[in-house]
Amino acid sequence: MAENFNNLPLLNEAIDESSEEVLASMLKEICQKYPSITEFVQSRLLVCEDEVARPGTSATPTSVHEGGNSSNDEGEDTTSATASRSGKLKKRYARCENCEEEFDVTGNTVTSCSYHPSESEPNYEEFLDHDEDCHGIIDSDEMREDYPEKFYFVCCDRRYNEKGCVIDWHLETDNDSGVWKRRKF
Ligand SMILES: [Zn+2]
Ligand SMILES: [Zn+2]
Repeated sequence: MAENFNNLPLLNEAIDESSEEVLASMLKEICQKYPSITEFVQSRLLVCEDEVARPGTSATPTSVHEGGNSSNDEGEDTTSATASRSGKLKKRYARCENCEEEFDVTGNTVTSCSYHPSESEPNYEEFLDHDEDCHGIIDSDEMREDYPEKFYFVCCDRRYNEKGCVIDWHLETDNDSGVWKRRKF
């Protein structure tokens, strides 16, 4: 047994370096083999609809997911508590349609998201000595990364590297899997 623990640093390192694909398929395999782990994973990745914080609701993200609220159960309380609550289950993590960040749907608040409602455009006056034939297309993601101060958002005139001018709730996409699947790995 002791040698298993000796391997832990190396195992942690291997987990850190494994691809998302490898980890996902391993987690699915573990869930199939060990039902108790399935419950744990479910308690982390799924929530009841009524735990979702949304505009106009007063969902309480506290105390719902970390269990530990009572001591009169024999071991499997956090998970079954999630599963047996009245509402139907949904995924706990979603990608925001506005800022494109992943967020926890139980922790969403009126100030969670910051984004620009319009696209960014190059300030061509800053590119007078830029020849697209030799230096590449100006209106590109690469140029935005390299010269963020030379691009501005139409909505507010802020530079590309400045934070969003609109603060709001994260917006979950209606299509349950659409935005999620478009993610590049
Ligand atoms: Zn803006
Ligand atoms: Zn957002």
